[in-house]
Amino acid sequence: MTDRVAVVGAGAVGVTAAHDLAAAGADVTVYDRGEPGSGSSGRAAGVLYDAYAGDVDAAIGARALERFRELSGEGDFEFVECPYVFLAREGDAKRAAAIEESAERMRRRGRDVSPLSPAELGERFPTLTGGAEAAAVAENAGWTDPGNYVSMMADRAAAAGARFETGAAADVLLDPPGVAAGGERERFDAVLVAAGAHTKRVLADAGVAVPLKPYRVQALTGGARYDGPMCYDATAGIYFRPHPTGLLAGDGTEPVEADPDAWDRTADGWFVEAIRSGLRERAGYDLRVERAWAGLCTATPDGNPLLGELGSEGAPPGAERGVFVAAGWQGHGFMRAPAIGEAVAAAMLGEEGALPTAFDPNRFDGSEEFEIAEGMVID
Ligand SMILES: Cc1cc2nc3c(=O)[nH]c(=O)nc-3n(C[C@H](O)[C@H](O)[C@H](O)COP(=O)(O)OP(=O)(O)OC[C@H]3O[C@@H](n4cnc5c(N)ncnc54)[C@H](O)[C@@H]3O)c2cc1C
Repeated sequence: MTDRVAVVGAGAVGVTAAHDLAAAGADVTVYDRGEPGSGSSGRAAGVLYDAYAGDVDAAIGARALERFRELSGEGDFEFVECPYVFLAREGDAKRAAAIEESAERMRRRGRDVSPLSPAELGERFPTLTGGAEAAAVAENAGWTDPGNYVSMMADRAAAAGARFETGAAADVLLDPPGVAAGGERERFDAVLVAAGAHTKRVLADAGVAVPLKPYRVQALTGGARYDGPMCYDATAGIYFRPHPTGLLAGDGTEPVEADPDAWDRTADGWFVEAIRSGLRERAGYDLRVERAWAGLCTATPDGNPLLGELGSEGAPPGAERGVFVAAGWQGHGFMRAPAIGEAVAAAMLGEEGALPTAFDPNRFDGSEEFEIAEGMVID
């Protein structure tokens, strides 16, 4: 029997899962309230690396980069190799210690990450000015245009037979699993909810509570050329990378819960000024803003994603089997999408052990109270 599956949300995660499901022979329908990539994926910075200190994250990061490289050159999607430097400023002993410790843990996970003394940093990356108390470089890293990844993967999914229903918000149905959209109701063998910042709302409307908070982050592009490595300055709380117009920089986390249907899409003045002064000090870069914007990320109580089938043991009330969730990336959803989409597709097709138990969504009951912790933080 052919599995009939639905994917709600055509972001990087949804289109990857849809492609892999269709390529494996499933009959796939993808729903998006807008167009593929019109959620957070189309607003992401496209910083990609496998520099994770946890074993599950490191393996997912590595698999994702492998797929990004394999897919590079398809359509307009291109993976651009570029090392990723993370550092703490002079005098920031706390973050310096954290960088040294996490770099060591990444190495133990088999990641190609090396500590850099201030002298080595200056020698290898002369574009990075301002000194450092501690620094490390991840070699397995690069950047891309996230919108191009989504378009390419959506095209591949369609070529493999997936059907796209766009322009109408979908409701998820339980018992049995199904989707209602545009006045039509369809039953499926399995439904994946990969609705980004709307995931909590979509599941709540179906009667399932999950602890997930959307929050604003920001990015901008600058018009002057930048040819250095990607860099995360943990002390300043900013990151930047080369970009076709010159440079892309970001962070600007606002750690308060945002309404996914009513949030400010424009960047804040304080964010632009923080990036301006950070770039001047860290890269001698004179910022001329080309474009600045905000977008939404999603936080969970423990910083790990909600990834898996709802309704197993300890399930949130109302959940039925056959409904899967993939959300809660703490700002790292795009770079993990090729691996996450692949794993959730395998799980939906019945492969045992395809998903890490640490990310099991049933570890919560949905009533948890928690503060939003910034995703890109080393301390
Ligand atoms: C400024 C910024 C910079 C970032 N930089 C990076 C980065 O460098 N690296 C990184 O890894 N991550 C980054 N992120 C995070 C990244 O964007 C997300 O983690 C990732 O894109 C999430 O992908 P997704 O497919 O889960 O969700 P989304 O891309 O948000 O896709 C969800 C989709 O669901 C659709 N949808 C919602 N509700 C419904 C409904 N009811 N019915 C149908 N469709 C629905 C939406 O329209 C949307 O297309 C950044 C985010 C922002 C905002």
